Amino acid sequence: MEPGNRTGQTLSSPRLSATLAAMPDRAGIIIHPFARFGLPPRTVLLTFDDGPNGAVTAHLLDVLHAAGVHAAFCVIGTRAAAQPELIRRLHAEGHLLVNHGMHHALWRTLFAATAAAEVDACNAVLARILGEPGYRARYYRPAGGLVTGGLLHVLRARGMRLLACSAFINDHLDGPATADRVTRNLLTRLQRDQGGVTVLHDGLQRLLRLGNPNRTWVPAAVQALITTLRADGYSFTTTLDG
Ligand SMILES: [Zn+2]
Repeated sequence: MEPGNRTGQTLSSPRLSATLAAMPDRAGIIIHPFARFGLPPRTVLLTFDDGPNGAVTAHLLDVLHAAGVHAAFCVIGTRAAAQPELIRRLHAEGHLLVNHGMHHALWRTLFAATAAAEVDACNAVLARILGEPGYRARYYRPAGGLVTGGLLHVLRARGMRLLACSAFINDHLDGPATADRVTRNLLTRLQRDQGGVTVLHDGLQRLLRLGNPNRTWVPAAVQALITTLRADGYSFTTTLDG
């Protein structure tokens, strides 16, 4: 599937769910599950992956707080464990905490047993940090967009859902020099689709040695994005259907 290709299909679609559920554990495929989650027109859910990431995430939280915008943070368990104060802060400030796996390792997603361990370990870290025994994130964002039938079974068994996206523009490859292009590309995509679920990386866990670990430009890019979208009549949400 070409990134950004709007399918109009959500993961609750019976056909896609049946296709994935029929896949044996070992038959992992790499897809980026695009879904709009039934968001109302001109509504945007901002999601940030691979953090928390120290000062970058703190700056991003400042930007969101000043703008009065809530977003979803798809955090990696090992990084959350090392930066518990950022997890507590983003939770306290009303952002949606999303499980992005304990180690963000693609191979662990391929098999149901290791996928379950990834999901559970990350949830356990979040539960410990938040002081809420038994806490489970409501959503899971797959590392690298890798989804298998086994993974979906693991999520279903835990009452969790996949957090897909509709606007993925490979921002992980960008650095400060191309930050403006990221903002422009995201705006073009959101305006074409009249909203959607974006992906930006406040942290970066490189896969296949790809990506630019300098994320210092992300908060300013998000500020520009929010300002332009608001002026154009868009609003922001963390409430998804289902
Ligand atoms: Zn990621």
